Amino acid sequence: MKDPVIHQLTIPTPFAVGDVHTYLMIGDAVTLVDTGPDTAEGKEVLTARLKETGLKPEDIDQVILTHHHPDHAGLTEFFHGARLFAHKNSERFLLRDDSFMNLHDFFYAEFFKQAGLPEQYMILLDKMKDPLKAMGRRQVDHYLTEGDALPGHEGWRVIETHGHSQGHISLVSEEGSVIGGDLLIRHISSNPLIEPPFGINQPRPLPQLQYNQSLNKLSSLHPRIVYPGHGEPVSHVVELVKNRLKKQHERAMYVKSLIEYKETTAFEVCKQLFPNIYKKQLGLTLSETVGQLDYLIYNGEITAADMNGEAIIYQAGSGVKL
Ligand SMILES: [Zn+2]
Repeated sequence: MKDPVIHQLTIPTPFAVGDVHTYLMIGDAVTLVDTGPDTAEGKEVLTARLKETGLKPEDIDQVILTHHHPDHAGLTEFFHGARLFAHKNSERFLLRDDSFMNLHDFFYAEFFKQAGLPEQYMILLDKMKDPLKAMGRRQVDHYLTEGDALPGHEGWRVIETHGHSQGHISLVSEEGSVIGGDLLIRHISSNPLIEPPFGINQPRPLPQLQYNQSLNKLSSLHPRIVYPGHGEPVSHVVELVKNRLKKQHERAMYVKSLIEYKETTAFEVCKQLFPNIYKKQLGLTLSETVGQLDYLIYNGEITAADMNGEAIIYQAGSGVKL
């Protein structure tokens, strides 16, 4: 079974990451993988790119989201005539109902407190909601999960590749092609973002550990090519994954050395890792920092002292594995 015709449609975004790639798959169904951001320019450029392939927005039968981030999932309503497919975990961000938003706000307030953020930074809590404003708001018609066949595209299946987001999926063909969203990007390493848990009393997900597992899963498939959400296609997948995991481990060991020097909070580590951008990009930099700390705890390199709801103090030395 040959791969269907895949067109890469590149859309500008207002975000720091720059352009995003969406993918048009023409098989028994006409499928758009990711939509680009919900901006006037996004709509205009995507419509123009579709026109170059001889299609109009209403010709799209189905939209598949690799994940819910606004650069990928902004235009879900624009394709209201198409069926929407995504992982179940993405839906809460796409709907943003009151119960999820309450959980969202409660979780990040606690998370910031446990990370040791001084009171004056708590105003940044509201900034955590900025990306949500640029996301589409629409119910998912069909959930996609590990191993699902892709409707309308024989020989393609879904793999769960959580970590960058809790609902991240990738599409894999028998021919060795992968449409990978933000799983593996050639010129930048993907950020495993902290997301709220799936219930008020649930533990939060550990995205760095999930992300590493997802990279290993991708690598074990020995893909011929990964079509990413940003940048150039990736052909040396095994090598790049190995490199990314090595870099992440080295970064974590640097974090360990900071903690060995002085026991401290996640926020203090974050400031040392990102002295120039932590204030502007607090959500991203704190996610990255806590990801490294989770990794070190999991590997028995450091411990986290439970401070009864106050800031968590990280210490060198092995403790109980997560
Ligand atoms: Zn993303």
